[in-house]
Order: sequence, then C-alpha cells, then structure tokens
Amino acid sequence: MKPTAPQIPYRVLLPIAVGFICFVISALELSHATQLDIKHSGLSKQQAKTVNLWITQGIDAVEQTLSPIPMDSLTIEVVRKRYAREPVPFAQVDRGSPTKVKLQVDANASLQEFVDDWTLYHELSHLYLPYLDTPSFWLNEGFATYMQYLTMLGAKVIDLSQYEARMKDGFDRGKARTRSHPGRLSDVSDDMWNRGAFTRVYWSGAAYFAEVDRALIARGTDLTHVIGQYSQCCLRQNSSGWQLVTQLDKVSRSKIFTDTYLEYYQRRDFPSISPGTLQKISHHYHSETEA
Ligand SMILES: [Zn+2]
Repeated sequence: MKPTAPQIPYRVLLPIAVGFICFVISALELSHATQLDIKHSGLSKQQAKTVNLWITQGIDAVEQTLSPIPMDSLTIEVVRKRYAREPVPFAQVDRGSPTKVKLQVDANASLQEFVDDWTLYHELSHLYLPYLDTPSFWLNEGFATYMQYLTMLGAKVIDLSQYEARMKDGFDRGKARTRSHPGRLSDVSDDMWNRGAFTRVYWSGAAYFAEVDRALIARGTDLTHVIGQYSQCCLRQNSSGWQLVTQLDKVSRSKIFTDTYLEYYQRRDFPSISPGTLQKISHHYHSETEA
C-alpha cells in the first residue's frame, strides 16, 4: 500500500460515495485473461475516460514486466480525492473476494501525470505475492517497491539514469530512516504502523529483492521470470515469509531467496546496494525490452 496518507479518511469516504459508476472491460478488449471491473465515484465522463486509459496502460506495463495478473477477476475502485497534492495520494489492495485495488485520485490530473506516478505499478505488483505475516511485511512492501520503478523502466516511462537515481534516492531515505527506527527488521516490520517506520521497511525489502535479482541475473534468469512462474503455479492467498522464500527457491532451483532472507530478517543495519548492482539490474532489463 501507499503509506503517505492516513487510512481512515478513505474508510470514511466510502459510505458517502453515491454509488460507483461501473465499467466492465472484457478480457478480449484487454487481451489478457483477467476480468477487469473499474468503478469510479465522483468523476466526470472525461475524467473517467482518462482514468480507464491510465489503468489499462498500467496493467499492460505490469503484465509485460512480470506476467499476466494471476487472478480471474480484479476490481479497481477509484474515488475522487478533493484538494489532492499528487495524482494518487492514497492506495491499497483489499484482498477480499474479489480482490480490489482502491485508489484515491486527483480527478484533474492529466493522463501523463497519472502514468508518471509510481503508485499504480506498486499496488498491482502486490497481486503477485501472498499476504504475509506482519514480521514479514518487509517482503510484501519490498517487492512492490522494487517493482514500481522496474515496471516504469520496462514501459519506458523512465530511462536508465532516472531508474538508477530513483532507486538510489529510495535506498538513501531507507538508510536515514533506519537510524530513526532502529531494531531488527522483522520486529520493526511487525510494528511498522505504530512506529511509522514505512520508509525503512519498504526500502530494506526493496534492497533484498535487488540483491536477489542481481544473483538471479548472474545465473541467467531474473526476478520477474521467477515471480511470473511462481504466480502462475504456486500463489496462495496467505503465507509466512519463510514459506514464501522456500517456495521461491524451489521455483528458481536455487538457495538465493532463503540465503538472502536469513541475512536480512534480523538485520539492524540498512543494506548497502552499490551503484554497480543497480547498473547491472537496469541494463539487464533495459536490454530485455530492446530485444
Ligand atoms: Zn504497498
């Protein structure tokens, strides 16, 4: 989820909303197997059109980077947020039945402003992993955080140098917030909401996936292939972090996920991800999209 705005206003907004206008876009139109249902509240016809276009483009970008969204149906609820300071001030995944992605948006944002915002790519990436126990939240949020800019790179929304700069900026902020939120990563993760330790937890998790991805790339595969395979064969609704990394080892026929997990889950420091690692990753994915 996106932690920058509090959760409560969204829950307050929902009952006030005078019904959602609903668009069901058929699987054929979108050329993927997931039945997509976009519901809006408080948007004009033109604003709804812009939002639909943004969401379908965002889904395409994530599916191109990872694999088809691993579910039969997906509901996206879009609510207008008044006085918004950014295109998507708040978002979260609701893992009920059906699974929903809830977005609060600035109804006046342009299509380009929506496309340039990382939030949708982050939320959609959450759909490829199970909901984990709270001490393992760093894996859930780390994966979505790692994928948000990788998806934007793959879709050419950002270029190589922007990708590397944004990742470095995230790691720098994660490191700074580790000083203000000390403790073992799994403990801080377990208590993330109370402590407001989002940046440390999200970016420590992103560092985990950067390390794992670099190791996978060195073996001739990469994280997006492994997660793509996992999400098609083995995705569950809920799991423990350890069960997840054990399963990912099986899929990748390696020990990379568990070995790196054992280095990370109790660590008190912020991991060091070198510019060389980021370059290896960005060039790998960049050359994949050019191929
Ligand atoms: Zn998230």
